[in-house]
Amino acid sequence: MSSERPTPDGPRSILPPATIGILGGGQLGRMLGLAARAMGYRLAVLDPDPDCPAAAVADRVVVGSYDDVGAALRLADVSDVVTYELEHIAAEVVEAVSEQVPVRPGHRPLVVTQDRLAERRFVESLGIAVAPWREVRADAEVGAAAEALGLPLRLKVPIGGYDGRGQIRIADAGEVDGAVARLGRPPGSPILAERELEFVSELSIIVARGLDGAEAAFPVARNVHEAGVLRESVAPGAFDVEVTEAAGDIGRRLAAAMDLVGTLTAELFLLAHGSLVVNELAPRVHNSGHWTIDGAETSQFEQHIRAICGLPLGPTDALYPTAMVNLLGTGRLRPARLDGIDAALAVPGLHLHLYDKRRVFGGRKMGHVTALGDTPSEALERARTGEKHLSWHEEQEAES
Ligand code: ADP
Ligand code: MG
Repeated sequence: MSSERPTPDGPRSILPPATIGILGGGQLGRMLGLAARAMGYRLAVLDPDPDCPAAAVADRVVVGSYDDVGAALRLADVSDVVTYELEHIAAEVVEAVSEQVPVRPGHRPLVVTQDRLAERRFVESLGIAVAPWREVRADAEVGAAAEALGLPLRLKVPIGGYDGRGQIRIADAGEVDGAVARLGRPPGSPILAERELEFVSELSIIVARGLDGAEAAFPVARNVHEAGVLRESVAPGAFDVEVTEAAGDIGRRLAAAMDLVGTLTAELFLLAHGSLVVNELAPRVHNSGHWTIDGAETSQFEQHIRAICGLPLGPTDALYPTAMVNLLGTGRLRPARLDGIDAALAVPGLHLHLYDKRRVFGGRKMGHVTALGDTPSEALERARTGEKHLSWHEEQEAES
């Protein structure tokens, strides 16, 4: 180690033009990279795809899978700090990298959140509510869970599911037979079975936590999912102050208990009597926080960079009511070209964000629009109108 002499920025801050390494080069890595670039940092990214969305903003792309320790160490070689943009990174990768360079949010947040069963246990250990659940390994146990917890039931694979993939819904007892096979799990492997809750609303809280333990929560977003995929978010969500305070409290307690440095997202359900239940955690920036790029004093991406570099956190207030609508792919796999951009950008207050994915297919997250408005409903109306103008170009038949 060189001199430990404190500098005005503090002995542990990582300052530009240091290189930030990101495990994962999807859209979250791209937007983290854009924020880091704006602050003068350099960027290295590990991803299996050399044309990943983050490649365009990276100084260097290390091509390798998310469990390739050797590739991750090559990333660490050129990085001053390493972060991850998805929780499906192998824990061994983070362990190996952290022997060489700080990894933030860190190992514990990763292992706690990458396995839904570990996550449920962790949240409950803090006295924070989750949906009634059981670990099951066979159809008979699914049946017992259905009896004990009630129907409908959700079965979720513990590791690797996202955007509604890796889960099935059991609506009646007749669907219990063959459920484990339908989930695509080998017999005997652990599965999370949980009660489907009739929520009033879905919401999310994004909290940043600095190296010094300082915490800052963004305004709560109200989220709508369709078929398990986030469709739209509005922030600040119009919830009672008790609800927003309780959500902030949940986020801060979870982040502190994980000793997380960076950003934590908690997806929550609001139930009829006003209580909150944790659905899912992500130790990272989140789709439901994309509104902050245009609508908050500090974006979630800049905030994450500040936190992992040991810098002071920024203010998190919303500048205006802001809505975000995802641009999801449609149709079969084909080269991606977006039609209707002129019309969309003519909508007042609208901003377009595209991830430069080369190919589009049904349900793929290709970009998003945000819109500011004087009220949440005006913002949402504008974002929805903008999104309706946009469509993925259907390839023409080759002309003969
Ligand atoms: P993913 O990792 O795919 O986001 P989630 O567990 O968050 O997995 O599930 C995706 C969506 O499915 C949720 O946002 C919610 O709309 C719905 N969902 C999941 N679990 C439940 C549940 N227990 N009760 C009601 N809805 C649920
Ligand atoms: Mg989710």
